[in-house]
Amino acid sequence: MTDKPLVAITGASSGIGEATAKAFAEAGHPLLLMARRKDRMEALGLAVAEIAEVDVRDRGAIAAAVQRAEARFGPVDLMFANAGVAHLADIARQPPEEWDEMIDINTKGLMNAVHAVLKPMKERSTGTIVLMSSIAGRKTYPDHTVYCGTKFFTHAVGESLREYLAPHGVRVQVISPGVIETEVLSGVNDPETLKNYRENKVKMGGGIPASHVAELILSTYQMPQNALVQEIVLTPTRQS
Ligand code: NDP
Repeated sequence: MTDKPLVAITGASSGIGEATAKAFAEAGHPLLLMARRKDRMEALGLAVAEIAEVDVRDRGAIAAAVQRAEARFGPVDLMFANAGVAHLADIARQPPEEWDEMIDINTKGLMNAVHAVLKPMKERSTGTIVLMSSIAGRKTYPDHTVYCGTKFFTHAVGESLREYLAPHGVRVQVISPGVIETEVLSGVNDPETLKNYRENKVKMGGGIPASHVAELILSTYQMPQNALVQEIVLTPTRQS
């Protein structure tokens, strides 16, 4: 067993969420891992973890998973609201169902994760909420229209939440990565957009490993509770 506090991660079945789960497990934290692909989370082989098959669009499922994990490991001290999809496409060609999915998962799903811990953290006057945005939440890119919308949303919510929770000693951090090597492109169904993205990626010398993002989340979390790195912006050097 461990005396470190519980860390909850949505979208823990691949990419940045998976890398962050491994980093925090190595640092001795018990984990609550949430995503739809339970087999992928189980395959990580992390001993001290509650693994929950959760769709972040289901507010009740997140709350129930948090309750189960807290009964085992105590209160969630870090919620990493990371789950997201990137259906990038020319906006005129894109089926609106892809807008719906991005909005539901990247914005409402993110809020569902926040909701599960907000009140208890405020009442306990401690805790950390980390919101996954993107460099596409700070500036716009071609074929990213609705994706950018969801990530600008995350920046706005992050800033508002940070101001709201600051007097209570609860930290709110926003993560804004550039191109990271994960499975995120599996959400791009538009062949031309995918081709352009891949060409740009080659031009910038490839993406950054997800483990670098995880290391930054861990090291900034490990700072004393009265120190907050408000935003992490990590991009390939050649990305513009
Ligand atoms: P991956 O596709 O590797 O990971 C996405 C994760 O989100 C998976 O674990 C997936 O799990 C989970 N997820 C998606 N939809 C849902 C859902 N409805 N309910 C629960 N979990 C869900 O990509 P990344 O690691 O790159 O993506 C993680 C986050 O990072 C996203 O928010 C993305 O927008 C953001 N990001 C990524 C960048 C990159 O270049 N890779 C750059 C900037 C931001 P499952 O399918 O099993 O449910």
